Amino acid sequence: MSLNKYKILAQKPVPEPRSLWYHWPVAIAVLPFFGVVAAFGIAPDTVPEPVELQHVVEDIALPAVPAPSPEETRYWREERIQRGDTVASVLARLNVNDADALAYLLQAKDVRSLYQLIPGRTIRVVTAGDGSLESLSYLNSDGRRLHVTSGASGFSASEELPQTEQWVMQSSGQIETSLFAATDSSGIPEMVALQLAEIFSSDIDFHRDLRRGDRFSVVYEALAADGDFVGFGRVLSAEFVNQGHIFRAVFFRDDQGRNGYYTPDGRNMRKAFLRSPIEFSRVTSGFTNSRFHPVLKTWRAHKGIDYGAPVGTRVRVTADGYVKFIGRKGGYGNVAIVRHPNGYETLYAHLSGFSQGLRQGRRVAQGEILGFVGSTGLVTGPHLHYEFHVNGIHQNPMRLAMPPGPPITAQLRPIFDETTQPLLSRLDMLRNTDLARLD
Ligand SMILES: [Zn+2]
Repeated sequence: MSLNKYKILAQKPVPEPRSLWYHWPVAIAVLPFFGVVAAFGIAPDTVPEPVELQHVVEDIALPAVPAPSPEETRYWREERIQRGDTVASVLARLNVNDADALAYLLQAKDVRSLYQLIPGRTIRVVTAGDGSLESLSYLNSDGRRLHVTSGASGFSASEELPQTEQWVMQSSGQIETSLFAATDSSGIPEMVALQLAEIFSSDIDFHRDLRRGDRFSVVYEALAADGDFVGFGRVLSAEFVNQGHIFRAVFFRDDQGRNGYYTPDGRNMRKAFLRSPIEFSRVTSGFTNSRFHPVLKTWRAHKGIDYGAPVGTRVRVTADGYVKFIGRKGGYGNVAIVRHPNGYETLYAHLSGFSQGLRQGRRVAQGEILGFVGSTGLVTGPHLHYEFHVNGIHQNPMRLAMPPGPPITAQLRPIFDETTQPLLSRLDMLRNTDLARLD
């Protein structure tokens, strides 16, 4: 993911500095690992003038310092682990020249976690002037810091829990082709992009509603241990401007531990129905198939919405309910019909197969996977045919106002406002500093 991208970019030979412009994307990809940054995914339309570089060489007189004796000299170094690295290859880059140390690190039980080197993490060493290892430290895959030290009786190892800290990252971007193309170019990790789509999934159908020029900003957590990046966390606040409509969401957890995403005025982002039954993923995000493109004029005749998607794409139920029918049915092929409260029903047709254990009468929760896109029944290509009925009558779900989930109560409102205000201010800041917005 993004971590690999960082590494790959870092591994690339650095080109001659032709212009400032050339180095932009690299800076965007690298910066998020070092703290809070605002990255802008979309470049301004104008390409900056190349910057002429000048090299200034100056002689600076240094005060005379007595050279330390070789025995006293100690070197502190750190190296970032690359894909394919072994303990030996990293030690070589760290200029560790110590056969005993290598033998110990390759054999000792206590340092087993070194066998699983995680690309992107760092190994730090202290060596003596002759290259012999004095100490080594590494944040291992269990999230513990391994210390190896050299003593009178040879090497020994210990582990401890590192100091963890939370970083808050923020970024924004603009849709040109797909959500993932935009988040990639803004340096936003995939799991954050997926959360973004999930948070707004009751308001925006990410398969059909996205338009070129849509914009987003996102504030999210990252976790670090002793300054080493260990993983991305939750989205804390986000804004999505879809076809001119502004949607904003902020994360809130109450004192009972219940949590979710809300609008700034405390309404629940989660509605009774999801906008799309197709699970959003990197594969489906850029998928277009003009044959199944929505033609709203034919809604009345067609009585459903067709989603072009690759065979096997996961189909999820759009609201809580129970399975009313599952099996083959004429032109529908493999079809699942789900009954929801208040006389609503949804229908999912042409499936290649159903989820294991799904059967008539079973309860299903919103977002649960019903089956997979296929081309069973009367079809000319793989797609999902989705119908929405109210009291037995076909309806266009696009036109229905869906009842929302529970809002923030009046009692919780003060604490909600207090805790979410800083997260919303960050969105304001991103919006005001977004270079992409030249309008
Ligand atoms: Zn259809």
